[in-house]
Amino acid sequence: MKPLIALVGRPNVGKSTLFNRILRQRSAIVDSTPGVTRDRHIADGEWQGKQFLLMDTGGYNAESDLISKAMLEQTLMAIRDADIIVFVTDARAGLSYEDLELGKLLKRNFQNKQLFFAVNKVESPQLIIEAESFISTGFTKPYFISAKDGSGVADMLDDILETF
Ligand code: GDP
Ligand code: MG
Repeated sequence: MKPLIALVGRPNVGKSTLFNRILRQRSAIVDSTPGVTRDRHIADGEWQGKQFLLMDTGGYNAESDLISKAMLEQTLMAIRDADIIVFVTDARAGLSYEDLELGKLLKRNFQNKQLFFAVNKVESPQLIIEAESFISTGFTKPYFISAKDGSGVADMLDDILETF
């Protein structure tokens, strides 16, 4: 069985860009369930000879600054089957209340899964410094990445693949 890696985070942090970056052109979507209640896309991936499934999630909209119950439930449902969860945040937008709540939720509900913490959109040294504040989430090891230019993504994937 190929391990399933899920990308999770609030809208606009760069999950879909990261999904495409990791898969490059080589993979096809193997399961797509678009929609408001259960939006997820799963594709076959390969890295350093290891095969895995990668899941992009989305489709929720937090209307207010409070994380919506629907978003939480939808996220939980989509990633229930995942072996590894990559929690994606945005260094340019900074850590929001939604990020913190989602982070807590992931830690609470998925103690049996491997959790990785990605701080995306880090393309300059200045942003790396700002991203250091993300360590306060309690996720001990942040990966500072850019889904757009690819920096840091290979190192994170190496560590993810070490776990299986
Ligand atoms: P999603 O809603 O989490 O799937 O986010 P998307 O992948 O759709 O990206 C949201 C926006 O952020 C788009 O305009 C992307 O081009 C931009 N974006 C994604 N990754 C990066 C990155 O690493 N650096 C920068 N600067 N922008 C990014
Ligand atoms: Mg998306």
